Amino acid sequence: MKFQPVLDEIDAEIRPLLGAGGTVASYIPALARVPAAQFGMALRTCDGQEAHAGDANKPFSIQSVSKLFTLTLAMQRLGEALWERIGREPSGNPFNSLVQLENEQGKPRNPFINAGAIAVADRLLSLFGREAKTDVLELMNSLTGDPISFDVEVAASEAATGYRNYALANFMKSFGKLDNDVETVLDMYFHQCALSMSCVQLARAAGYLCRDGVHPWAPGVNLLTERQTRRINSLMLTCGTYDAAGEFAFRIGLPCKSGVGGGIVAVVPDQLTLAVWSPALDATGNSLLGMKALELFVTKTGLSVF
Ligand code: GLN
Repeated sequence: MKFQPVLDEIDAEIRPLLGAGGTVASYIPALARVPAAQFGMALRTCDGQEAHAGDANKPFSIQSVSKLFTLTLAMQRLGEALWERIGREPSGNPFNSLVQLENEQGKPRNPFINAGAIAVADRLLSLFGREAKTDVLELMNSLTGDPISFDVEVAASEAATGYRNYALANFMKSFGKLDNDVETVLDMYFHQCALSMSCVQLARAAGYLCRDGVHPWAPGVNLLTERQTRRINSLMLTCGTYDAAGEFAFRIGLPCKSGVGGGIVAVVPDQLTLAVWSPALDATGNSLLGMKALELFVTKTGLSVF
């Protein structure tokens, strides 16, 4: 299938809708300043064909999309032991909800809500110590072939206003579910969220998720086993877009992971990875037009897991 004309068509349909709905994430001051009327989309097939449209080369704050990559690092190193502290069920609650965490004694429902990703960050710090942030950057550099960096202004902005994340981390700490101190764990978490990447880079970086764990372009390098990769895709489908996971499955039917920077990564297993970006979000913190673009893609191509 030729994908470039498909993405061009989607871009032409989305562009008139820019600025018509949704709001940028305002609770992180550095994200509140991002102009809402932008849209980009990029795709990479398992055999290396690429296509992109709109603002696909513009870097943005990947935010919770980073939870995919830190989970990958943790799964590589910890195997089954990872799941002692983190569940695998959809939360049905907003990504930063506190209620469930108290009811469940500080064990996050899944690795994609904030509490779960904070617990993963804690595990990575125990494994890699002070090098943990560098290890995340090295993984991203290796996956994209580009020098990826943290947007330090976004990380500082979130550290200054991340009251809910402090509450979540303190809660987990009080239940004895974090090994490292709260400041260190959140410094790691805020930096991973502040990774700055474009749709083209994200579509490349996620390539191992459509290739049974095989590195997107380095021959013979396996990031994860086939089974681990299937598990990440399942978690994306059931938990990757928080309390909109049901709606995403209904309208799109692909494993997806979103972030409040307006990015969404989607996987068509054994075929391709897609990244979309548009900063205006709906009430669940998912990109309004990003979701629309993915729905158009599935409708036009018939590519879905269902
Ligand atoms: N850094 C954001 C937060 O912790 C990530 C949330 C998201 O992208 N859904 O609130």
